[in-house]
Amino acid sequence: MATDTGLARDLAALVGPGHVRTDAGALTAYGRDATPLFHALPQAVVLPGSTEEVAAVLRYATEHRVPVVPRGAGSNLCAATVPLTGGIVLVLTRLNKILEVSSEELLARVQTGVSTAALADAAAARGLLYAPDPGSRTVSTVGGNVATCAGGLRGLKYGVTRNYVLGLEAVLPTGEIIRTGGRLWKDVAGYDLTRLLTGSEGTLAVITEAIVALLPAPEESGTGVAYFDSLADASRAVADVISAGIVPATLEFLDRKCIAAVEEFAGLGLRQDAGALLLFGDDGAPPTVAANLARIQEVCADAGALETTLAEDVARADALLAARRCSLPALSRLGSLTILEDATVPRHRQAEMVDRIDEIAARHDLLIATFGHAGDGNLHPTCVLDPEDTEGADRAHRAFAEIFAAAIAMDGTITGEHGVGAAKLPYLADKIGADQMALLRRVKTAFDPAGILNPGKLGS
Ligand SMILES: Cc1cc2nc3c(=O)[nH]c(=O)nc-3n(C[C@H](O)[C@H](O)[C@H](O)COP(=O)(O)OP(=O)(O)OC[C@H]3O[C@@H](n4cnc5c(N)ncnc54)[C@H](O)[C@@H]3O)c2cc1C
Repeated sequence: MATDTGLARDLAALVGPGHVRTDAGALTAYGRDATPLFHALPQAVVLPGSTEEVAAVLRYATEHRVPVVPRGAGSNLCAATVPLTGGIVLVLTRLNKILEVSSEELLARVQTGVSTAALADAAAARGLLYAPDPGSRTVSTVGGNVATCAGGLRGLKYGVTRNYVLGLEAVLPTGEIIRTGGRLWKDVAGYDLTRLLTGSEGTLAVITEAIVALLPAPEESGTGVAYFDSLADASRAVADVISAGIVPATLEFLDRKCIAAVEEFAGLGLRQDAGALLLFGDDGAPPTVAANLARIQEVCADAGALETTLAEDVARADALLAARRCSLPALSRLGSLTILEDATVPRHRQAEMVDRIDEIAARHDLLIATFGHAGDGNLHPTCVLDPEDTEGADRAHRAFAEIFAAAIAMDGTITGEHGVGAAKLPYLADKIGADQMALLRRVKTAFDPAGILNPGKLGS
């Protein structure tokens, strides 16, 4: 590997000296992402300004065996952008142009450093909807969303990022620029590399452009809230809603600990005596939205809800959605070490899983609050600790290992939307088995023969 000064000089020749950072502040900042407890210093932070510059950096890195970690906003929660073996953090945020929004073809073409919210806003300005809606949308990039196959608050009805990716431009670690898929809804020529790259977590190629499908924006949307004695009761209500034949856009829940933290943080007027809150919402034609929301209220009442109310206006609906979106920052205020995890089980086993998480938390003497996407069984158990409490962090580690094992035992998975990264890699073989792990490694080698792209993650 080149010396740090030699590396910086060589990189500056490829992308311009103003776009290579080697100062201590930058190296420290880009040595972390949104995941607590993981940190490692890169040798250089590089901000390319074009696909060709990305290709030049990758070609150089393969030739000189320098690790490269692609990075969007660094908002991932599985240490996916921590440069575990040093090298280059390749930040894509200068590639942030919205190249096209087509009402006729119902698609957008964007550079992947653009934020999810900017894409959604550009679509909305044309009366269109970009459906993927991660809680981090104001900062997360489309590249990061594609690379992690991000989900979000509308996942139940609209699916996840993968369902909207039509085509990609990507740079292989060896420097070749490829285009997969395209503008077509129907295209089955060859292996589906678009899908393979979607969710590949920066380990196979650097994605520089994406063509994503848009939908006509729904005419109306509505939101409501139901309070229950317990999260298990709320989970049973979710199963009843789906069994009633309704697939709402949003079905999110907060447990008692989250409700208290969010209320303290944001003062939204949430009811404090409930064990759980279910946030529901739908969109579409006005009569359908009204009928679905009324039916959800009925089902929740039958399932024992303490109270159900509909947001009377957009401001109240936004406030309720904010309750869900601000769960993580609200919980972080309870202790500055906040470990947010991501386990998913089949919807009908959600109540059982919630009970299991509570039992594991109590046995390890930990504060674990749970919120998540109730409609698709995607739970976010979140442990809040004092950062000085190293013994507590060890207990949390053991508790989460048990939580992932419990999810797998219930036919669930170790991550429903955040990805594997470095944090979940130790658990991946338990989920997919030795043969698939070996296949993943062979796929990785086919894309990245020198093993330079995001080492220590998928395919390692
Ligand atoms: C408050 C909060 C709420 C969140 N809510 C959700 C949610 O609702 N749903 C959800 O799914 N996630 C959520 N997340 C997690 C995170 O925001 C998502 O994983 C998001 O997709 C990451 O985007 P990013 O631009 O920050 O990517 P990064 O964190 O920078 O990178 C994530 C991964 O993608 C790779 N990558 C990034 N850009 C590229 C590229 N152009 N080419 C190749 N690889 C690339 C990286 O190497 C890394 O492996 C949340 C996080 C926070 C902090």
